[in-house]
Amino acid sequence: MEYESVNPFTGKTVKTFNAFTDSQLEAKIAKAASCYETWRTKSYAQRAVIVAKAAQLMHADVDKFAKHATIEMGKLINESRGEVNFSANILAYYAKNSERFLAPVKLHPEHGEAHMESSPIGVIFCVEPWNFPYYQLARVAGPHLMAGNTILVKHAGCVPQCAIEFEQLWIDAGAPEGLYTNLLISHEQSDKVIDDPRVKGVALTGSVAAGRSISSRAGTNLKVSSMELGGSDAFIVLEDADLEKTIPWAVWGRMYNAGQTCCASKRFIVVDEIADKFLAKFKSALEALKPGDPMDETTTHGPLSTESALTDLLKQVDAAVAKGAKVALGGKRIDREGAFMEATILTDVKPDNPAFRDEFFGPVAMFFRVKDEAAAIALANDSDFGLGGSVFTKDIARGKRVATQVETGMMFINNIDWSDAELPFGGIKDSGYGRELGNMGIQEFVNKKLVRTHDMAAPLV
Ligand code: NAP
Repeated sequence: MEYESVNPFTGKTVKTFNAFTDSQLEAKIAKAASCYETWRTKSYAQRAVIVAKAAQLMHADVDKFAKHATIEMGKLINESRGEVNFSANILAYYAKNSERFLAPVKLHPEHGEAHMESSPIGVIFCVEPWNFPYYQLARVAGPHLMAGNTILVKHAGCVPQCAIEFEQLWIDAGAPEGLYTNLLISHEQSDKVIDDPRVKGVALTGSVAAGRSISSRAGTNLKVSSMELGGSDAFIVLEDADLEKTIPWAVWGRMYNAGQTCCASKRFIVVDEIADKFLAKFKSALEALKPGDPMDETTTHGPLSTESALTDLLKQVDAAVAKGAKVALGGKRIDREGAFMEATILTDVKPDNPAFRDEFFGPVAMFFRVKDEAAAIALANDSDFGLGGSVFTKDIARGKRVATQVETGMMFINNIDWSDAELPFGGIKDSGYGRELGNMGIQEFVNKKLVRTHDMAAPLV
C-alpha cells in the first residue's frame, strides 16, 4: 500500500488507498490536457472566480481541513489551523493579483515597438511533501491555475486524506474536471508523467534525493522545472542580540511543525561573548515544552509525521554522536505512545563529522560557538544548502549587512524564516532553484513571449 493515513500520535492506521492503475493515470492526464485547451482561453477574471471561491471555502471550513493534517502527520492543531488560513490567503492573493503580474510589459528597442506577453504552457506536474500538506499545494495551485495552466499533483504517501480533501475543494469551487487533479501514483508512474509529452513543466518540493531524480528526468525531456529542496538554515546570534526576545524565536524556529520545516532554523551559530547564556536559556526553554496530543491546544511538542521519520532521525543523531558530537539535551525517543522525539541540542559537531553537512528534519538543533560576526558568516556559508537564514542583533543596519553576505535565497533579521503570499520563497545550492509565491512564483511556468512590431516605412536597419 503506497498511500496510507496513519495517525503518528496513536500509531493507528486510519485509512489506506490503492495507487492508480496505469489506465486510471492515463485518463487523468488526458483530462488535464483537454481541460487546458479551454482553461487557457478563459480571462483572468473567469479564472479568479474559481480560485477565489476555493479560498473562501477553505476559510469557511478551517477546522475540517486542519483536523485532517493533525491526524495524518501530527501537526499541532493550532499550527494546522494557521496553515489552512495561510493556504486560503495564498489562493486569494493570486486570484486578486495574477492579471497584474502577467500583464504585457512594454519594451523600448532602438527601432519600432515591442512588448513581452505571458501565456500559459500547459499541464504542470507538481510533486509535493507532507510537512505542510495544504500550504505546499496552495503554493502551486494558486499561481499556476491563475496563469492558465492545469495541474497534476502527486502528494506524499502519508497524507492521502489531505490530498483528496484539497482536490475536492476545487470540485466544490466549481472547477472544470481536469483543472486540479490529485494522483495516487508510484515513483515509477511519476517518471512516466514527467516523460509524457502532454506535460510541459515539473515542480517539486521535497528532499535533495528526489530533486536529483526528478530534475534530471525533467532535464532529459527538456522540460522547465522548479526545485524547492532541503535546507540547514543558520540562526545567527550576534553579541548585541536581545536574548530575552531571541530565545522564543529560537524555540519557534527549531520546533515549529515538530522541526519538520525545510526553512527551520537548524544551525544555531552564536558569538562566543553570549554563547553560554544563549545555550542555557535555549535548553531550559526547550525543556519546558509539553509533549502530548496534537489535537489538544495546550500541547506544545507534537509527534513526528511517521514512525519511520522518528527512527531515521534517531539513527542520524546516533551517527553524529559516534563521530564526535555531544548531546547537550535530549537525543532519545520520548518514552510514550506515538512518534515523539525529545527536543535535542547537539554541540561539538566538527566539519569532519558527516552531520555537519546534514539536514536534521525534526527537533534537533546543532549549536556552534564562533569568535565573531565574520566567523558566523563564514560558518553559515559552509553548507551545501542555501535556503534561508536568520540573524539576531539590536542593530538593524548590521543585520542587513550580515544578511547580504549569507549565501542563501532568503534572509530574515530578528525573525525566523517566515513566508508571506507576497514574498518569493526558494533557495540556491542544494536547496534547489526557482521561486514560489509572490510575483516571481507565477512566472515559473509561463511562456514569456516577445512581440516586436516594425514600422514598414522606416529604412531597413
Ligand atoms: P521526499 O521524500 O523527497 O518526498 C517529497 C515528495 O516527493 C513526496 O510526494 C514523495 O512521494 C515524492 N518523491 C520522492 N522521491 C520521488 C521520486 N524519485 N519520484 C517521484 N516522487 C518522489 O521528501 P520528504 O523527506 O518527505 O520531505 C522533506 C524534505 O522536503 C526535506 O528535505 C525538506 O527540507 C524538503 N522541503 C522543502 C521545502 C522547500 O520549499 N524548499 C518545503 C518543504 C519541504 P512519496 O511520499 O510517495 O515517496
